Amino acid sequence: MATIKAIDGRSVHQIQSGQVIVDLNSVVKELVENSLDAGATSIEVRFKNNGLDCIEVQDNGKGIAPHDFATVALKHHTSKLSSYDDLTSLETFGFRGEALSSLCALSKFHILTARAEDGAVGKRLDFEPSGALKGTAVVASPKGTTVYVEELFHNLPVRRKELEKNIKREYGKVIGLLHAYACISVGVRFAVSNQMPKGKKMTVFSTKSNTTTKENIVNVFGTKALLGLLKLDLHLELEPTSGSSTQNARKWATHGSDGSKTVQVQGHISKPIFGEGRQATDRQLFFVNSRPCFLPQVSKAINEVYKSFNVTQSPFIFANLVMDTNAYDVNVSPDKRTILLHDQTALLESMKASLTELFDKTDHTVPQSQL
Ligand code: ADP
Ligand code: MG
Repeated sequence: MATIKAIDGRSVHQIQSGQVIVDLNSVVKELVENSLDAGATSIEVRFKNNGLDCIEVQDNGKGIAPHDFATVALKHHTSKLSSYDDLTSLETFGFRGEALSSLCALSKFHILTARAEDGAVGKRLDFEPSGALKGTAVVASPKGTTVYVEELFHNLPVRRKELEKNIKREYGKVIGLLHAYACISVGVRFAVSNQMPKGKKMTVFSTKSNTTTKENIVNVFGTKALLGLLKLDLHLELEPTSGSSTQNARKWATHGSDGSKTVQVQGHISKPIFGEGRQATDRQLFFVNSRPCFLPQVSKAINEVYKSFNVTQSPFIFANLVMDTNAYDVNVSPDKRTILLHDQTALLESMKASLTELFDKTDHTVPQSQL
């Protein structure tokens, strides 16, 4: 008898889903991005038991049309991309059509949705683990979509145990991610809450539909966060260096919409005299073209420059790198948070020089009122 056999479809779906939804962070990231893609101006994220029991994301976006109910959670079904060519001109966060189908396979999952034209009448959608629509029911629902993810990883005992063991750290990471979305999303109200078993519902933080990132930062971190903040507005002109891959450099130079190789670093940073008296990396937010992402090398470079002016403290950083979409690749990891910058060496060098110049020009005396 043959010992090599095909894995059944259900197991394949579960294994692949586990690569898209790897932790609490990926659940929240996918759902918040779906809400932003749906044009929401208000997003509420409600955790129960730090997310172990339930994660709910409610938005006031455009809702899901009845003719899409059957396919909304099917794998590789998306309203945002129809061919590979569309990838280069993508303006939405999502494009793979994998998040909802993966959540069906890994949690107890359902959706409530209503469009503006449906009045206050919405639908509850229930799904099979495969993502196929199991049933619908009429419910009262305001315009928008609420996604419920209960008992994440309930059918993967090892993952579930791991999640339970690390829940404090995972929950902390998720709140950090939500800080990033809330600060960068101008015009979108965020409200984040958590309810522990038998406890009261606690507001974690909330923002209003502010018109500036600065107002968002005040809502998230308090007015004290603004103390001594310096506007970041660096214009970097990049020359490829020996450290950068010439192949990638060429790709960028020839494919860039205007052939330019400029990067702008926009946002806010603490003046060197006003850093935080601890390793405050929870107050360092990085974005590429407004997408929250991990940029460990950029973070290291900024912290290094800062340390050369203030050895004892760490800065608050809100840095959005605005650059040609051919200058990086977001498609390297399923969570799209790991970004490959093609000309990283040149970028880091230029950024360090420019930041040093900014700090050199900054008034380093502590105002009397702050002493
Ligand atoms: P993707 O975002 O890559 O398209 P998802 O699995 O995250 O894939 O979502 C599948 C589809 O479901 C989306 O393309 C969109 O049409 C619809 N959808 C998901 N979430 C929402 C939402 N909050 N509001 C409206 N439509 C949504
Ligand atoms: Mg999505």
